[in-house]
Amino acid sequence: MRGAVLYAPGDVRFEERDDPKIIKPTDAIIRTTATCVCGSDLWDYRGINRVDRPAPFGHEYVGIVEEVGSDVHTIKPGQFVIGSFFASDNTCANCRNGYQTNCLHREFVGAEGCQAERIRIPLADGTLVATPEQPAEQHIAGLLACSDVMGTGWYAAVAAEVKPGDTVAVVGDGAVGLCAVIAAKELGAGRIIAMSRHEPRQKLAREFGATHIVAERADDGIARIKELTGGIGADRVLECVGTEQSMQQALRSTRPGGNVGFVGVPHGVAIDGEELFYSHVGLRGGPAPVREFLPDLIDRVLSGRIDPGKVFDLVLPLEQVAEGYRAMDERRAIKTLLRP
Ligand SMILES: [Zn+2]
Repeated sequence: MRGAVLYAPGDVRFEERDDPKIIKPTDAIIRTTATCVCGSDLWDYRGINRVDRPAPFGHEYVGIVEEVGSDVHTIKPGQFVIGSFFASDNTCANCRNGYQTNCLHREFVGAEGCQAERIRIPLADGTLVATPEQPAEQHIAGLLACSDVMGTGWYAAVAAEVKPGDTVAVVGDGAVGLCAVIAAKELGAGRIIAMSRHEPRQKLAREFGATHIVAERADDGIARIKELTGGIGADRVLECVGTEQSMQQALRSTRPGGNVGFVGVPHGVAIDGEELFYSHVGLRGGPAPVREFLPDLIDRVLSGRIDPGKVFDLVLPLEQVAEGYRAMDERRAIKTLLRP
């Protein structure tokens, strides 16, 4: 089979790789229906994370089950499935508490690379969620979004404890930030402030439910949020970037007693304990337990209630994966969907 391999910063190749095989009896092999490039893949693509040797890439996927191990009981060949980037048994204490990305037996699905024609999924029964039937073509992109960005945006809102009527600010206008707007709306936010400087992304944010756009950044952005909130800050702020600047912007845009949900993978972020102490701001985040939200999110997509598939503004054949990375790196695309 063929798949993407990252050789060095800026150097993604599409090449022949070994077919994945059942290694443990709890594994399944899926034939990829669609996969995509994640904003977090760009950390490696840009050389911010070190790339030591050629590595298969990608961690988002939907597909059809081809083969299951002898200890897989609920997932069956032929099913259309969606799963998260961390495999989880969905039965251990952390999973039962809703933190499947901290499963005591978790494995990173992306280790073997999901930007490929076939993928091995560990702990298949716990990790994968099957749709009731083969989904219509129009729902493929939305379901793929649930595999990471929609689940991650949802977790940002859940971690910040968004409640009906809240004023919610979203820091970051990438696919996760845009999905966080959807999540805030679905959870009943009264006002949703999207922080974005890019016109096409502002437009999509509005379509997803943003009521206000703030284009300013850093201190000016914080001042704008305060202006919109009677001088105190937003009830909930969803941090969807992962830089020092975006985290500071999130913490300082939140009112005393409010919460920040942070889902951008932190790179060089330092939080001042004393400032946090005096701010009265609550902070929760981490790798989103997407598996916890999948059944609900899949229902919302299949019923047409939400359409997070709109974050994919570039669709390419999988063999053009390198162009998919380039387009996102150069911000020509919000998110690239790849079809084998
Ligand atoms: Zn578990």
